[in-house]
Amino acid sequence: MFQADPQLSRVPGRRQPKPELDLKTASKQDHLRMVIVMDHQSPGKLDMQFPDIWLRDNCRCGECFLPQTMSRLPQLWNNLDTSVRVQQHSVDLDQEILYITWSDGHASQYPLAWLRERDFSLANRTRYLSDFYRPEPRHWSGTDFEHIRREFQYRDLLASDEALLEWLDHLAVYGVALIKQAPLEFDVLRRLCNRVGFMRRTTYGDEFSVRAQPGASNYAYLAAPLPLHTDMPYFEYKPGVTLLHTLEQSDSPGGVNLLTDAYHVADLMRERYPEQFRVLCQTSVDWADIGRDGELEFHNIWRAPVINLDAEGRYVRINHSIPQRDSHFTVPLEQVRPWYEAMALFVRLAHEEACSFKTTPGDVLTFNNLRLVHGRTGYDDTDRNVRHIVGAFIDWDIVYSRLRVLRNSKSNS
Ligand SMILES: [Zn+2]
Repeated sequence: MFQADPQLSRVPGRRQPKPELDLKTASKQDHLRMVIVMDHQSPGKLDMQFPDIWLRDNCRCGECFLPQTMSRLPQLWNNLDTSVRVQQHSVDLDQEILYITWSDGHASQYPLAWLRERDFSLANRTRYLSDFYRPEPRHWSGTDFEHIRREFQYRDLLASDEALLEWLDHLAVYGVALIKQAPLEFDVLRRLCNRVGFMRRTTYGDEFSVRAQPGASNYAYLAAPLPLHTDMPYFEYKPGVTLLHTLEQSDSPGGVNLLTDAYHVADLMRERYPEQFRVLCQTSVDWADIGRDGELEFHNIWRAPVINLDAEGRYVRINHSIPQRDSHFTVPLEQVRPWYEAMALFVRLAHEEACSFKTTPGDVLTFNNLRLVHGRTGYDDTDRNVRHIVGAFIDWDIVYSRLRVLRNSKSNS
């Protein structure tokens, strides 16, 4: 049965709130002020617990919530009374609704299905984060690559939402996916990006052509070997996903793609070389790209470590590009040599863990540019045979958003 526990939601004998704002007034007991709801649908399961202040903040009534924008209205926060408490509450088991009357006179109701989705239990939070927020990444070594590589048909991605979802999910989990049988036309990447949302423009335009150009504006536009790197580390908003469409491939033995899961490299360093790992996480590096492409003159700089972690210690971004690392290195003197030692190790491991393959015309290689480092071996163009790749970017915000929309429409159909 669903049943609220009145004792836990009403803590007696609390002091009157002070007239002035005092951040120390919340007692230890206040943190424990919960409304507890038993889940009659699965006996034996832990009760759902909701902090009272969270319930008040998330009231669903017309004064507090605007359904058309699916968002909270701000009035409560004009002068939020954090001492607000539950006066009365009850559960209607037939309607599956929790009713609460508050000390400020407000009345709220919450559908139990809505509460279940937001249950604070570890199991529910884990489910939400990995099933819906973002798929859990699985890191891979160079030798794992053959097992995690997956191909998708271009035609299917344009025609089927199911195929689109599988491609984006695979890209989110493994960071790489190969699309086959795309036509040898210039607008292929635009059509793919439009299926997801929209293409990301950069200082090099929308689509860009990678082919040997003497006197090129970017190192990638030379036929020389291109060492492992991420694209555009010099942007605060670095493009999230790189798409490379092979229009023509070099007949020479070169032009082979190299790819490494740099999150796996970071795992190895974290485990075996913790000091060097710390240095790469904590030393800010100046990434830069200075020059001109067509009419646009640019001077881009972004300062950030090679390995970037979020508040929970998970990887959020790798930065690495030898040509696009500035000669400015704006750290204290004593941090310079340790960084070089740690970076030499990172580069060696990235090479050891690389997989290699050669794309053929009609292939679209897609990969996570925040996570993978990529490169290619050198090649020799001939008069009749010129390697020609078209590249474009799309951002992760757009990809994750499409994934969630596709998941929602799948579960509602
Ligand atoms: Zn309300």
